[in-house]
Amino acid sequence: MLDTITGALESVKAAVDIGKIIIDSGKAIDVANYKYKIAELLSLLAEAKISITEINDEIVSRDEKIKKLEEELKIKEDIKIEGVFYWLNGDGPFCTKCWDNDRKLIRVVPTYAWTCKCPACKNVYEQGNNPERELYHAWLLKNGFMP
Ligand SMILES: [Zn+2]
Repeated sequence: MLDTITGALESVKAAVDIGKIIIDSGKAIDVANYKYKIAELLSLLAEAKISITEINDEIVSRDEKIKKLEEELKIKEDIKIEGVFYWLNGDGPFCTKCWDNDRKLIRVVPTYAWTCKCPACKNVYEQGNNPERELYHAWLLKNGFMP
């Protein structure tokens, strides 16, 4: 991006220099040369505009990346693993595989009895005697999956 910024600044400086030449020339410049200098000036300004657009796109892209990383960091600070699931401030259960691999919070869904499945990666979690079984059971009750 630094090269793009340098290029934009060089284009603007060259355009300003041409503008000064035109102004300083007064009536001494002929029409053909005048038109040539104006065309050169417009070309430099167009180059600068393209470079500035590229810089803007890069800044927007970096801002989005920073926002995403800040959100991930906040989640990383608050997320707790209990047994095979992640829980975020009492919300969950979330698939550990999807968070660990892709940084996506995907809620697992119950399939039957003490088993649930991630709808994204299709990982199946057997509850059996897992220590978070009670937390999972409470979540099933809260969300109407169990009578
Ligand atoms: Zn998953």
